[in-house]
Amino acid sequence: MIRLRPYQEDIIDRARKSLMAHKSILIQAPTGSGKTVLSARMIGTAAERGFRSYFICHRQELLDQTEETFKEVGISFGFIAAGRRPDPYPNVQLCSVGTLISRLDRIPMPKFCIWDEAHHVAARGWAGVHGRYKDSFHVGLTATPERLDGKGLGAWFKDIVSGPSMASLIQDGWLSDYKIFAPAKPDLTGVHKRMGDYQTSELAEVMEAGTITGDAISHYLQLARGKRAAVFCVSIKHSKHVAEQFKAAGVIAVHIDGKMNRFDRKMAIDGFRSGRIEVICNVEIINEGFDLPAIEVAILLRPTQSLALYLQQVGRSLRSGKKFALILDHAGNAARHGLPDDEREWSLEGAKKRRESKAEKEVSIRECPQCYHVHAPLPVCPECGFVYQIQYREVEVVDGQLVELDKERLRRKRYREQSACKDKEDLVSLAHARGYSNPHGWAYYVMKSREKRRRV
Ligand SMILES: [Zn+2]
Repeated sequence: MIRLRPYQEDIIDRARKSLMAHKSILIQAPTGSGKTVLSARMIGTAAERGFRSYFICHRQELLDQTEETFKEVGISFGFIAAGRRPDPYPNVQLCSVGTLISRLDRIPMPKFCIWDEAHHVAARGWAGVHGRYKDSFHVGLTATPERLDGKGLGAWFKDIVSGPSMASLIQDGWLSDYKIFAPAKPDLTGVHKRMGDYQTSELAEVMEAGTITGDAISHYLQLARGKRAAVFCVSIKHSKHVAEQFKAAGVIAVHIDGKMNRFDRKMAIDGFRSGRIEVICNVEIINEGFDLPAIEVAILLRPTQSLALYLQQVGRSLRSGKKFALILDHAGNAARHGLPDDEREWSLEGAKKRRESKAEKEVSIRECPQCYHVHAPLPVCPECGFVYQIQYREVEVVDGQLVELDKERLRRKRYREQSACKDKEDLVSLAHARGYSNPHGWAYYVMKSREKRRRV
């Protein structure tokens, strides 16, 4: 039997209730909250009831990872995936979306589908499969329920079940705490936008030019020497270039990409896992759902307008088991999107709605000019003690409450407010005051976790 964390049990309870009213729902929970285990439990239960169930994902690594988890927990399954021997008999089928599309006419209709990294559902092939299985039950999983262009997923999913926030997972020790530094911001003047994000070729040019790569390497050596880092780049050429530069500086670095054969890629990743390789450069291989707990440092060299992409990259370093993760932001992403664990309100309507929410508007950060530490507004840098004279007054006028709070205190303040709530009603009004979109859902979650704690 799969042992779930209390909040995971709670997510499944609420998902089950939601599925009674809507046939297609989304589960939103941060990277590292354990969505594969969640899937294993849901799909295992469905299969026991005799439901033919498909787990659908779009990458080799996700397929491998899920296969491992399903084996561990004793779920028998077949594959609908190129290069894997098909076995149509088990109720659970592990599917790659590409193969599923090409065999749609030949394989039986499932009763239940789980969509991994469900924010891709708008992609042509995915949407085709979802539309074809309109009589099935669907659960989509994602940390960031928006398309990369910021549009919502309301056309495919009718309800959203939200798990705990990143801040509370850090607070409870399920995710690692982090420190973020932003040593430089690239000048993106003249870089055009396409589909809601920066145009990649122009972006690559900016990021390859000047001292950006050199800065990234010297800051890695200064702040993170010997720690294992994932570097997020703009293009394959850029990523290869960065890996070469790291090597020239005496760091054991590799580049990986999707065109490499499976064996070479696996060798590189195994080398990183074992510690033989210190730095692994990539474009979009190590992001969503890619589990590499060894990552201690995330080096951001890809400026993005997409909050989802930023959180996916940063999230890769937050697996628990280290004192804190380091995030070295050379892309200006923290300034653009705020701290990774800022409270955010997700909805099926996408980025526009989220940005209008109250929680998002309160977000503001300080970047220390002395040590480059990025933190919540407060008069002194918590990392090096730099005193913000001018900014302090500015902030005091704008928002007298926030100036004296650093990230840790802000978190504690949130918890104090929360513990002062005696019952669910108090929590609901606190949630209203904070502008949360689903006060009852949130209050319910808090009450549940209190009960669990009392029982332990
Ligand atoms: Zn500082």
